[in-house]
Amino acid sequence: MSVRPTPPIVVVGAGVAGLSAALALAPRPVLLVCERPPGEGGATPLAAGGLAAALAAGDSVADHAEDTLLAGHGNDREAVRVLVAGAADAVAWLEAQGVRFDRAADRRYAFGREGGHRRARILHAGGDATGAAIARSLAAAARATPSIRVLDGLRVDGVRLGTDGRVCGVLALDAAGVRHALDGAAVLLACGGIAGLFADRTGPAGLQGLGLSVAQAVGARLRDLPFVQFHPTALALEARASDGRRSLITEALRGAGAVLRDRRGQRLMAAHPLGDLAPRDQVARAVAAADGPWLDTSPCAPDWPAAFPSTVAAIARHGLAIGDPLPVCAAQHFHMGGVASDLDGATSVPGLFAVGECAANGAHGANRLASNSLLEGVVYGRRAAAALAAATSRPRPSATRRFAPGAEPEALATLRLRLSAALGPVRRRSELLRLLPTLAADTRQHTIARALVIATLAQRGNLGAHQWHAADAPVAVPISLWPGSPAAHHGQRPGSGRSVRP
Ligand SMILES: Cc1cc2nc3c(=O)[nH]c(=O)nc-3n(C[C@H](O)[C@H](O)[C@H](O)COP(=O)(O)OP(=O)(O)OC[C@H]3O[C@@H](n4cnc5c(N)ncnc54)[C@H](O)[C@@H]3O)c2cc1C
Repeated sequence: MSVRPTPPIVVVGAGVAGLSAALALAPRPVLLVCERPPGEGGATPLAAGGLAAALAAGDSVADHAEDTLLAGHGNDREAVRVLVAGAADAVAWLEAQGVRFDRAADRRYAFGREGGHRRARILHAGGDATGAAIARSLAAAARATPSIRVLDGLRVDGVRLGTDGRVCGVLALDAAGVRHALDGAAVLLACGGIAGLFADRTGPAGLQGLGLSVAQAVGARLRDLPFVQFHPTALALEARASDGRRSLITEALRGAGAVLRDRRGQRLMAAHPLGDLAPRDQVARAVAAADGPWLDTSPCAPDWPAAFPSTVAAIARHGLAIGDPLPVCAAQHFHMGGVASDLDGATSVPGLFAVGECAANGAHGANRLASNSLLEGVVYGRRAAAALAAATSRPRPSATRRFAPGAEPEALATLRLRLSAALGPVRRRSELLRLLPTLAADTRQHTIARALVIATLAQRGNLGAHQWHAADAPVAVPISLWPGSPAAHHGQRPGSGRSVRP
């Protein structure tokens, strides 16, 4: 009797979440589909701050959970518990994959501090090149794993469904324009966030909400769409990185003593009990509202540059050094919203799983705590892998759902500018209502932008990273603005739906 081979799992995305899942699935066959080679694309290699883990003497998982909840406003408590309780194991697992976290002279981990953390609990690898170190090690491990077939150079542009309605594959275009159908037992989305829909951003242009498109194509539930995180210290200089993103001035600089000031030299965060290390949403709003905000790095210790080479290199491109005043602005950085998933990555549609930044399981609430995202990718990527072990049947593909075509470069540039203007750290209903009719084009990116704007309009009060302008009255919002509006099921999450009136 012949034994049927185990069907592969199709993993879309090769950042920290996709690579963690693919490695944890071994020896189960994996088709690892990604646009750029593993270790190179997405946000993971850019991650500068580090990875949070309550491993320092005197720290505790409970304290890490409390900081996550305090920053997050309405997180799913169980999702937070799983995240922070999994940190020690995640660090050990990453080390087993070859990641070398920085240690002090006594060989103990060297911990840094970031916004919203009341303790120093951020691990670095190569200083502020932590994401690159993790991406490099995981990519090398994946390439050395025979069960993982890396299929890079492919842009996913559709989904495949089996006769039983389960998601079982994706469609992807190669550089020559040839479309490939990649099928397996299930699809795990690990395809990152929405940076590429914003002009002012810290993330790569290529991350344009693929997870949201897949979910829209198959009717999977989305959640928390209005909760877009802005980083308060993007470098506010005209010249930008090659793909249009702004250089990030890592939060670790404020952890090392730097303070935010306005044009007149007044401190921006003096009134907050956590000062310049307040949660990111609050600092981003202060920066967005300030006249001529800049980071005063003069209080940083003289040996600081040696520890954070990426930030030093980024500012050196503009002729600046630590100690100089660094002009900063708030820029899109992370999406708390995404494809609604449970703690094993399962979505509302059979066969479709999601982890990492494209997913939303409630762990980050309405405002992610700094350095919890790399951790999320490892913890939940590995959990999804364990859950996917049960997917053993190979559905027979019977239907495909192609996405709407991608926007032309000019239309995409306009869309990015408009979203950055209207969907920033502080939003105005009037602006969003004016924006909506301009998003009518039938492209993949406009479809996502409409969903983001409609869900934001449906958000009644201020919560975490979502804040209405003070002049906006708390009016009832017509969620039927668009036929078939998805706003109804984007609701007031996260958590209980609790929200505060502006
Ligand atoms: C500048 C910067 C600094 C950051 N610093 C930190 C930090 O210090 N600590 C922290 O915890 N978090 C940090 N974050 C957030 C964190 O880096 C990300 O949330 C996290 O890396 C996301 O991992 P991921 O695996 O979900 O997705 P990504 O790492 O973004 O990977 C997405 C993958 O999907 C692929 N993909 C996307 N679209 C397609 C498509 N259409 N077809 C095929 N493949 C596709 C990409 O090629 C890539 O392989 C930072 C983010 C930025 C932008």
